[in-house]
Amino acid sequence: MRQGRITKISGPLVMAEGLDDAKMFDVVRVGKQRLIGEIIEIKSGIASIQVYEETAGLTPGDPVEGTGVPLSVELAPGIIEAIFDGIQRPLDLIKKEAGDFITRGIEVPALDRKKKWDFQPVVKAGDSVTGGDILGVVKETVLVDHKIMVPHGIEGKVVKIHSGAATIEDTIAEIETGDGVKEVQMLQRWPVRRIRPYKEKLPPLQPMTTGQRVVDMFFPVAKGGVACIPGPFGSGKTVIQHQLAKWADADIVVYIGCGERGNEMTDVLMEFPELVDPKSGEPLMKRTVLIANTSNMPVAAREASIYTGITIAEYFRDMGYSVALMADSTSRWAEALREMSGRLEEMPGEEGYPAYLASRLAEFYERAGRVVCAGSEGREGAVTAVGAVSPPGGDLSEPVTQGTLRVVKVFWALDASLAYSRHFPAIHWLTSYSLYLDTVEGWLEENVDKDWGALRAEAMRLLQVEAELQEIVRLVGIDALSIKDRLILEVAKSIREDFLHQNAFHEVDTYASLKKQYEMLKTILVFRDEAEKAMEAGASFKEIEVHPVREKIARMKYLSETEMDKIEAVKEEVRKELESLVSEGGVLSA
Ligand code: ADP
Repeated sequence: MRQGRITKISGPLVMAEGLDDAKMFDVVRVGKQRLIGEIIEIKSGIASIQVYEETAGLTPGDPVEGTGVPLSVELAPGIIEAIFDGIQRPLDLIKKEAGDFITRGIEVPALDRKKKWDFQPVVKAGDSVTGGDILGVVKETVLVDHKIMVPHGIEGKVVKIHSGAATIEDTIAEIETGDGVKEVQMLQRWPVRRIRPYKEKLPPLQPMTTGQRVVDMFFPVAKGGVACIPGPFGSGKTVIQHQLAKWADADIVVYIGCGERGNEMTDVLMEFPELVDPKSGEPLMKRTVLIANTSNMPVAAREASIYTGITIAEYFRDMGYSVALMADSTSRWAEALREMSGRLEEMPGEEGYPAYLASRLAEFYERAGRVVCAGSEGREGAVTAVGAVSPPGGDLSEPVTQGTLRVVKVFWALDASLAYSRHFPAIHWLTSYSLYLDTVEGWLEENVDKDWGALRAEAMRLLQVEAELQEIVRLVGIDALSIKDRLILEVAKSIREDFLHQNAFHEVDTYASLKKQYEMLKTILVFRDEAEKAMEAGASFKEIEVHPVREKIARMKYLSETEMDKIEAVKEEVRKELESLVSEGGVLSA
């Protein structure tokens, strides 16, 4: 490779000349310390390089060496449970080798080269295979079967297949292609900025259930969908993310902590490894990959981290898994983009962000989706992406939030005032939205209850009417309302407090199945119908307001999934109790 020379240094940006055969996005090693950098612009013979490590001490004239390969991630067993930085350096291993601070230029491979994995083939000699086909399986953790796939671009007959212990660099298969015999290892590389191929993108029709009632019932995200969550401080963003990681109907979780304040990231690094996967009782890390960039790490590594994360997510998608990817926060990522753009002296757009901010955001979210994976098997996989934004001052009109809202289809509006009044999850029902409501309704009506959509719509309508009525109450007082309206207020309150409010730290309430969610909401609306009838027959509003069955409704959330009969029984009880009120009422008024 040709060597170049540094001509100029500007923070994390270095200009070099003489790298004549280098291409855009090639990785280069910069200076005598061989710092890792990536070419992000080439203009009249000068390469602009973003350097992923602290550049202090570099001087013009220092050597720059091209590697001829684009910035890539290593894909093989060993990814799960790892904690990487934005360019996939293993933070835990580096810490072991070099202490708490990453030594510059350190060369630690992303994945362990020596560890032996038990490779179990699923093909045999003589089989024809093509890119994406599964050659064999490695039990990577108790929760993850890592499927070893034929690398893209290879097609032919298996001539030899290994079985048993192998390192990720050992040859596990030989494939005879039109171009000679190719040796395949478990370790494969993929350039982070390039989408991994798939056969076909499918419309996201199935919800990614989360067990969180406000999400599943009112603002569902589809499997393969994209969602956004703003996070004013203390509004419960971390708790939501943990709940999603634990309970979302996903096989693999990829969490990208992107340049949050150092101590917040430390929280994530300390907390995630302690979370327990509720379905298996194993540590959640056994199906999680963490990518962590704190803001005290060089800004450029932040820019790369979301690509590293989504490439890993796509890789597991290709195995046929449902992957949940969380990026926190994309605002910090955008700030990194802004800083690099400023140093490149590009024409700034709104608030100093580069004009291509919106298209970069769109490109990132477009890598989510439900697909038919590459290969002849036709298996399906999905990447569902949830990006957090942290708009300064909570101002949603700023460019990163706006650019994000243009591409995501779900917005979970975390609301500081709800959090303040201890309504959790603090996702506001009036300002949030999901554009998947119609697409996933079919699935929900088929798999839970044909009444799902109507129930949801009616509950939402009541919450909206509540907001209007509250306005009237504020102006002229509660006495101005008819008893019908007062009933609506009571029912809406019940929807908010008994249904939407969900305590993440309560053993039972932390998760609700779709069936339970349906039964809970249905019971509240049965209460509404029966109460209306009772009042028409002469029962007083007071009687309804303080009726003891309301306490039963409030306690439904604490009935466990194994007591579905008891949950269903509440609905019948509500019906019976209020019907008896009608007969009593009838007697009274007679
Ligand atoms: P943020 O990350 O937005 O700063 P956190 O997620 O740490 O906020 O939440 C702040 C506090 O709010 C938590 O410590 C917890 O007490 C409370 N909280 C948030 N979400 C819930 C929830 N779903 N159930 C119960 N408490 C919650």
